[in-house]
Amino acid sequence: MFKRVLLKLSGEFLAGESGFGISPDTTAQLAHLITGALEGTGVELAIVIGGGNLWRGARNGKGMDAATADYIGMLGTVMNAMALQDAMEAAGQPTRVMTAIQMAAVAEPYIRRRAIRHMEKGRVVIFGGGNGAPFFTTDTTATLRALEIGADVVLMAKNKVDGVYDSDPRKNPDARRLDRLTHIEVVERRLEVMDATALTLCMDRGLPIVVFDLFEPGNLRRLLMGERVGTLIQS
Ligand code: UDP
Repeated sequence: MFKRVLLKLSGEFLAGESGFGISPDTTAQLAHLITGALEGTGVELAIVIGGGNLWRGARNGKGMDAATADYIGMLGTVMNAMALQDAMEAAGQPTRVMTAIQMAAVAEPYIRRRAIRHMEKGRVVIFGGGNGAPFFTTDTTATLRALEIGADVVLMAKNKVDGVYDSDPRKNPDARRLDRLTHIEVVERRLEVMDATALTLCMDRGLPIVVFDLFEPGNLRRLLMGERVGTLIQS
């Protein structure tokens, strides 16, 4: 059983069918899924939310100053964090949003010791604003925050993908799911888990990663209770 975990959600989890923007219905379903899984476990949960449903610096910001495009992306993650907070609180789960870029009128600034205190009090902390620095992704934020708050593991939530495969299962029907890997194997085999910067940080610090299908019923709860689900990456 884990004591404290960090869950990484892509921004797309908040988008409806279109894959773009924030769907209140989809966000409510997501919030119920997470809140239901967490209920009664006593596990402390922090969430890093991405922003790909709204803006991806490198892709959407073509022709723009790259850093500016990334700052726009970071602001997008704050919008997502607020939407997720709203939905989780409606589902009965106390939460706090903390942002890496200060905007005190809408959320608390990120202060590490305060984030830990919130979790000790049973609040889910949602980190918005990425790292507060351009040229990173929210995968690196997930890793960085997980290390800072002393999380046992980073849970990389996927949509209808139940772990890491040796090749793309959508293209190769013989693709095999890998239950257990080391960080270095992921690097050497160029397996898709998280971006290279984030992965290197996990490897350097020995932080375990689990890649799992968030929408397989019961998966998140089983994971929180310490069961083996999806692919475990450990040194
Ligand atoms: N971003 C950034 N620094 C960070 C985190 C995010 O500049 O520390 C920007 C970057 O432009 C990125 C965008 O925010 O493309 C959205 O985040 P990401 O692509 O990681 O979202 P996800 O794919 O998880 O939805």
